[in-house]
Amino acid sequence: MPSFTEENYLKAIYHLSESGTKPVLTNDLSDAMKTKAASATDMVKKLALKKFVSYKKYYGVQLTAKGQAEALLVIRKHRLWETFLVQKLDFAWDEVHEVAEQLEHIQSKRLIEKIDSFLDHPKTDPHGDPIPDSNGRLPVQKTIACNSLKVGQQATITAVKDSDALLLKLLDKIGAYPGKKIKILSREHYDDSTLALLEGKKVFLSKEVSQNILVEE
Ligand SMILES: [Zn+2]
Repeated sequence: MPSFTEENYLKAIYHLSESGTKPVLTNDLSDAMKTKAASATDMVKKLALKKFVSYKKYYGVQLTAKGQAEALLVIRKHRLWETFLVQKLDFAWDEVHEVAEQLEHIQSKRLIEKIDSFLDHPKTDPHGDPIPDSNGRLPVQKTIACNSLKVGQQATITAVKDSDALLLKLLDKIGAYPGKKIKILSREHYDDSTLALLEGKKVFLSKEVSQNILVEE
């Protein structure tokens, strides 16, 4: 059984590797974990000994099938807990990420399967991120960031970045939720800010905000 820290590393490697498809450089990993490169390398070597990752110097680190399964289990728990907190305990969507970061490390498989059926097997969490099923399968979503949409293009919001509470508060204020339709009206060349129509209402999106909104064409 991996430790909390090991689980967090596996999760970070999964996200940085674009769902386990690309090797991750230890420098990128240490940035993501807000630690020194040497500490990240030490942890990677430890994970390699436990067969969670394969690691080659200069090439980077890649999840093994075992590591991938473990990362997806942590992500499943995280997203199910977020859904539970919003749906059943009336947490706001900007409050749940921090709490789920703690709850995702609870090891009881029985508890998480009970929560899954209690919630009627949700497919996505409150931020629109897909929830891996109990076999670790994750549906492939063809999403792009909102700032990649062209002027005049319309799309549906599928997910928003979950870890920034201030961003989520702002998205809540303008009504940018998963499932809502968005159309790009104009974009400023100067700073890539966007004027968009969100469910018929004009909204202004800075580059930073629209980078963190995922859409499906
Ligand atoms: Zn989260």
